[in-house]
Amino acid sequence: MKACDRAETGALIQVNAGAGGRKIEIPMPELPDVEGFRQLVEATCRGKTIARAEAPDPGILEGITPVTIARRLKGERIATAARHGKHLFVTLTRGAVITMHFGTNGSPRFLEPGAADPPYTRFALGFTGGEHLAYVNPRRIGRVGLAPSADAYIAAAGLGPDALAPQVGAAFLAQAAGRSKRAIKALLMDQAIIAGIGNIYADEILFQAGIHPETPANALSTGEIGGLLRTLRRVLETAIACGAGSEEGAALLPKGFLLPERHRGRRCPRCGGPIATTKQSARTSYFCPRCQKARLPSD
Ligand SMILES: [Zn+2]
Repeated sequence: MKACDRAETGALIQVNAGAGGRKIEIPMPELPDVEGFRQLVEATCRGKTIARAEAPDPGILEGITPVTIARRLKGERIATAARHGKHLFVTLTRGAVITMHFGTNGSPRFLEPGAADPPYTRFALGFTGGEHLAYVNPRRIGRVGLAPSADAYIAAAGLGPDALAPQVGAAFLAQAAGRSKRAIKALLMDQAIIAGIGNIYADEILFQAGIHPETPANALSTGEIGGLLRTLRRVLETAIACGAGSEEGAALLPKGFLLPERHRGRRCPRCGGPIATTKQSARTSYFCPRCQKARLPSD
């Protein structure tokens, strides 16, 4: 694995300018960030018993009231934390799972006894030892709920396999791409096909694979699909290894990555040419027109 450079990957959302006017960049949580969240929850909360569950912002709850979730969680113990795409599942020893989706800028924070919940805490678990886990979400786009199991939630939500699951192999991707004239970027971001990739990592994967984001999925050759899959895994695994989703709020990626260059006027880390943008389904794509050549749709 290539060493991680100290290049911040903060996305374009800027919130909470603060008294000094300093803008804080917060990444949009995708699979690598949520894997970082999973590791945090696993390391800090495993085996702990829930003394209280509070939802200061009931609007964040999905299909359950603050009173019911508090009653259901009191006395439960945390067994483990699992990830599926952009979802985090906090599994309880008696089987049910707390489901968390972080929207555009949510994250979990673990706090020692006596520490106050951070600003924008929408949901919190207090443990019997006094520590607590806060679900922080400034923009309030995200969801917390309770499900009988992760599998039940995934099925009900209609999510495809996690992007790093063994099931997402060359045959799987070739089949999904081969029957779609949609842009490859839209296909990569379709959570019903593959769960976990959003706007930022779709751009990164396509940049690293040298594929224009608007390329029709069915125009890709078998060889290109194989290369795209290898790149997808490498990009996501590198971002995880570099600490995506960490408390600093920025991953530390190798120099050849496009992600830190997501600002107008930046240069391509590969050829030095200007980075271009295009709008797809109201999301801005960043790409290098020299390294990622456009091509015509195939019939
Ligand atoms: Zn380039």
